[in-house]
Amino acid sequence: MSDIKEGIIVILSSPSGAGKTSLVKEISSKNNFSISISHTTRKPRNNEVDGSDYYFVNEEKFKDLISKKKFLEYAKVFNNYYGSSKDEVFKNLDKGQNVIFDIDWQGTEQIKQKKLKYKIITIFILPPSRKELFSRLLNRDLNDEKNAKERMKQFDKDVLHWKNYDLVVINDNFDKCYDKIIKYINLEKNNSSDNYNKNLIKNHVLGLLK
Ligand code: 5GP
Repeated sequence: MSDIKEGIIVILSSPSGAGKTSLVKEISSKNNFSISISHTTRKPRNNEVDGSDYYFVNEEKFKDLISKKKFLEYAKVFNNYYGSSKDEVFKNLDKGQNVIFDIDWQGTEQIKQKKLKYKIITIFILPPSRKELFSRLLNRDLNDEKNAKERMKQFDKDVLHWKNYDLVVINDNFDKCYDKIIKYINLEKNNSSDNYNKNLIKNHVLGLLK
């Protein structure tokens, strides 16, 4: 029997622009999680680096990877494909390394349905307000208002998936949000459990949809 304890999977999802990517980076660097780097057919943003933020590929290459069953999960998000590759993730988990994913709700559902042998913790991040979300989206995509508006429309659909996650956190303050996530992960790792205030989150989501 191997005495290596398998790593755990932590999945962070959120509607686009809720600040999830920065949280994933902070959790990874401070807590020894390796990040699952996704493949995408989306074009890189100005500050993005191939092989570090994503593996940027064309649609033909992506479909080839699908047919070779290289993905643990994949989905179409905003007209582009995104997928998490299997090999690297399983290799890390099997040697005891924890892995963190920054993927949408469709990918999260697919991974959950696989009934993998690894412990999975799913976390959903909410923006503090609709106004703040819109300004984050505008900022990130260099004031591309059309794109930001499209993502807001998508937000109204994506946000409804909060209910299927283990923990839901409002990102109104980066450090506090980070602390809540780490506290939750540590409790879960030790098989203790923690609850979040579902009513508060439900009311917050209703406010975001107004
Ligand atoms: P963005 O284009 O803003 O980087 O990402 C758009 C959305 O795609 C985000 O919600 C992000 O979490 C999600 N995403 C990124 N990589 C993957 C992936 O490998 N699989 C899935 N299902 N979603 C992903």
